[in-house]
Amino acid sequence: MVDLKGQYLKIKREIDQGILDCLESTEYINGTAVKQFQKDFESYLDVKHVIPCANGTDALQIAMMALGLQPGDEVICPAFTYVATAEVIGLLGLKPVMVDVLPDTFNIDPSCIEQFITPKTKAIVPVHLYGQSADMESIMAIAKKHNLFVIEDNAQAIGADYTFSSGEVKKTGTIGHIGCTSFFPSKNLGCYGDGGALLTNNDDLAQTIRIIANHGQEKKYYHKVLGCNSRLDTIQAEILKVKLKYLDTYSKARNEMAAYYDEGLKNIPGVTIPKRFSQSTHVFHQYTLLIKNGKRDTLQNYLEEKSIPSMIYYPLPLYKQEAFQKYVEPDFSLPVTEKLCQEVISLPIHTEFKPEISDKIINEIQIFFT
Ligand SMILES: *Cc1c(COP(=O)(O)O)cnc(C)c1O
Repeated sequence: MVDLKGQYLKIKREIDQGILDCLESTEYINGTAVKQFQKDFESYLDVKHVIPCANGTDALQIAMMALGLQPGDEVICPAFTYVATAEVIGLLGLKPVMVDVLPDTFNIDPSCIEQFITPKTKAIVPVHLYGQSADMESIMAIAKKHNLFVIEDNAQAIGADYTFSSGEVKKTGTIGHIGCTSFFPSKNLGCYGDGGALLTNNDDLAQTIRIIANHGQEKKYYHKVLGCNSRLDTIQAEILKVKLKYLDTYSKARNEMAAYYDEGLKNIPGVTIPKRFSQSTHVFHQYTLLIKNGKRDTLQNYLEEKSIPSMIYYPLPLYKQEAFQKYVEPDFSLPVTEKLCQEVISLPIHTEFKPEISDKIINEIQIFFT
């Protein structure tokens, strides 16, 4: 699905040097590279505070802790997303309230949010799925009207630009009260292990986040609140420092690959190519098709026979997952989420675009449909 080896070989000299520097320095925890990457990332995103942490799931959990959410509070999230988004809500004793998504951009449908708001609702967690921003202008307006926090799950869309109707442009993850991202290796800005970060423009929140991520302490061995241990390793920061410089080039390469797929696949009846949302650039974390008429699974089997990788993100709505049964009525169902779980299929997309490989994939899909 990704070509991490090809990408590494092109930046090997810089990456290896960074790793060696870390080994030599012995500053394995909180080394200077962590601080440097934090600064670089703040200026890239144009956000006041980046707080690195151990992974994207931790970032979401720490965000909810920092906002002071209490057991029993309700948090709205899309039903069509990776489990981490809703998992941490449940782990903190909060109630995940899952709402439907839009059939074309796959992101949370703002028109479905208000009907789920109750006096217990405290926050909305939009997910910028597959590399494209959710409708943040509408979401921020709803949040303001009902006095809710917004935590952006930006694990899949780092580097995407969102344009407001005023013309103002912001990076995804810097629009809500807190943004969360992941540096898992296959993410658009991936390190060589686990990593994550929280983003915020609020000084007080930034301070609370730093304290929570560091065992609840401001001063060593004096613990103000219950926190956790969530840090980005120096060695990963060395890698991210290098890769951040190439993030926009990587997004461009992903877009080229997506456009190439589009050309080859746009005229096949029963296949819908990814829709571009006018308010957001797309950084193509995934290139995801919709396959009509119940043919998605047979297409996937066919591709597998031809040794072409593909993935289903995600096969089951969150509210149908065993772990989430206690949050929903037995017959709870959302029509768009149901349909997407039957129809989505993601093709390989990455930074090392080679037309001949994409040609083979396009060709096989064309053959399948004729
Ligand atoms: C990857 C991902 C996460 C979790 O990130 P980890 O670093 O793997 O913990 C959360 N939300 C979404 C939407 C993701 O894709």
